[in-house]
Amino acid sequence: MDGSGLPETRSTCPYCGVGCGVLLRPDGQGGLDMRGDPDHPANFGRLCSKGSALGETVGLDQRLLTPRVDGRQSDWDSALGLVASRFSQTIAEHGPDSVAFYVSGQLLTEDYYVANKLMKGFIGSANIDTNSRLCMASSVAGHKRAFGTDTVPGTYEDIDAADLVVLVGSNLAWCHPVLHQRVLAARKARGTKIVVIDPRRTASCDSADMHLALEPGSDVALFNRLLVKLYEGGALDKGFLAHTNGFDDTLHAAFSDDPSVTGLERVRIDKFCELWMRTEKVVTIYSQGVNQSSSGSDKVNAILNCHLATGRIGKSGCGPLSVTGQPNAMGGREVGGLANMLACHLDIENADHRAAVRDFWDAPRIPDAPGLKAVDMFRAVGDGRIKALWIIHTNPAVSMPEADAVRDSIAACPFTVVSDITEQTDTARLADVLLPATAWAEKDGTVTNSDRTISRQRAVLPPPGAARPDWEILAEVGRRMGYSAAFDYSSPAEIFREYAALSSLGSHFGRDFDISAFAALSDRDYATLAPVRWPVTASRRGGRFFADRRFFHSDGKAKLLPVRWRPPAAKTEPRYPFRLNTGRLRDQWHTMTRTGLSPRLAAHLPEPFAEIHPGDASRLGIARADLVRLTSPTGTAILRARLTDTVNPGQVFAPMHWTGETAPSARIDALVAAATDPVSGQPESKASVVAVSRF
Ligand code: SF4
Repeated sequence: MDGSGLPETRSTCPYCGVGCGVLLRPDGQGGLDMRGDPDHPANFGRLCSKGSALGETVGLDQRLLTPRVDGRQSDWDSALGLVASRFSQTIAEHGPDSVAFYVSGQLLTEDYYVANKLMKGFIGSANIDTNSRLCMASSVAGHKRAFGTDTVPGTYEDIDAADLVVLVGSNLAWCHPVLHQRVLAARKARGTKIVVIDPRRTASCDSADMHLALEPGSDVALFNRLLVKLYEGGALDKGFLAHTNGFDDTLHAAFSDDPSVTGLERVRIDKFCELWMRTEKVVTIYSQGVNQSSSGSDKVNAILNCHLATGRIGKSGCGPLSVTGQPNAMGGREVGGLANMLACHLDIENADHRAAVRDFWDAPRIPDAPGLKAVDMFRAVGDGRIKALWIIHTNPAVSMPEADAVRDSIAACPFTVVSDITEQTDTARLADVLLPATAWAEKDGTVTNSDRTISRQRAVLPPPGAARPDWEILAEVGRRMGYSAAFDYSSPAEIFREYAALSSLGSHFGRDFDISAFAALSDRDYATLAPVRWPVTASRRGGRFFADRRFFHSDGKAKLLPVRWRPPAAKTEPRYPFRLNTGRLRDQWHTMTRTGLSPRLAAHLPEPFAEIHPGDASRLGIARADLVRLTSPTGTAILRARLTDTVNPGQVFAPMHWTGETAPSARIDALVAAATDPVSGQPESKASVVAVSRF
């Protein structure tokens, strides 16, 4: 209860991976009153501008309220019958790998679980991937290579206890604002130093002690230099290194790299290394500037190498912390929502893991190889290998690299289903079947945030029109495809219990993920579930990984990975002399389907723009507020010029939020090349090449 005496409902903010708790109460006029949850361990009552405007974004303007087939209003029975029959028919004629699901880190864990079970267990293909591929797949790959599993070792409490926080490729102040407030609180309480490593001088630099504006994509060389300096300075933890493999080769690779490729003065690199070396409690927070790179996995391992070599991991105030963009990117990783993973951090290539999951699900088949990752999936749609596609709560016609080609591929796909809360997206307009889904304030389930905390999302508003929860839509299609027993769910609580029971396989196979203590959770306990960090087993609840120096490779040791700097995939050249960096704004989220509904959020930076260095602008005859044309090998955008020295000469920054619906000339991912990291498959969204001219 708050002062009004009306009950409030505990839920979770549906935007970024900080996973802030919120208290919600319907205002009686279709909207919501809300405040931060003072008891949630992620935010203790704090909210950022996006979170605090959530109540303004739940109106029914632009909502999709009934199923639509070929642009005409339909009903659930007809629409779901068509989806099930077209998928079944396509599989019968062309095999299970001729269909695909492209899902989203916006899905709740229960939705994700059902989608993954349907595709991997019953359709028999691993062609399910998620927009989290664009977000943190490189962190997953880096964790697995270093630790043996996709384990996030750090927690938010480590930030509170750190004496040095290093932000790498992360504008935390805008993209994870409540975590940034936590960093600033640590600074106030204990004098925590802050270093920002980013080619651009972002808002996060305003409170930093040091900003290293390195050349785009050169992070590996910087962290290799750090490893060398740690070695030369006698700062390695030999006791900890006894619990690792690969140090000698890793150090050799580090010595072989040339730190001058960072473009940073040697004295500044040394100053950073000395600060790191003399500070015992170091947390390295990294995000899309690390992950969205053709060498993203190597960047992650270069960071992990330094933490492992100095034992700055598995103890309070220390560790690497990957912060995810989306509210449930972590839940998606846990249920196996990526094309190269099985549920509960089990491996799709491992025959024992596959057999155990198949037996648990009583499934006819589990594919024995990874499916198509996002970029390859849309290529397969484009060349006709994928003939039926179901896109759920994401807008790939805008957000995928080479977005124009992706849009054209979806348009040409023989059968496309889109589940969403609105039909006014570039992707929804291409659908043969549109399915109205419930939105965040109307649905029940769980999400996992960036530090492994599972929180409940709870419905506080009734589903509008004919909208239904995603798990229910997916389960109904599964039943109509002939898998009645496997998809006979009646509630998200039932799905969560099944998922928790399955997770006991995690411990059985020596994996990290296990929430089996929830397998017998009552509906009542699910309804009142408080935020909890996994694992949750009979003998363990939450806590810290690696304090015991035991890792998940078969010998129990961690691996240091020898990595070497590689330049971004696209090379600047006379036709395309600028590097294009893309990213988020403080007050917008993804393609603005929700945040675009709030006038006060839209007022922050109301139109699409390109940040250009004043020296470059002068040379090109571009004045402040001119319109400029950005051209890459894959697309064009017209944007307002903002002249600023926050970008270095030769670089351009542009936000990625505008769409064909909101600003047709500003679809920035149309310019981004679909170059990917060879290990993670994550696209390089921050180092494309473009030409800039006055429009
Ligand atoms: Fe929501 Fe992220 Fe802001 Fe927290 S920091 S209120 S989770 S957008």
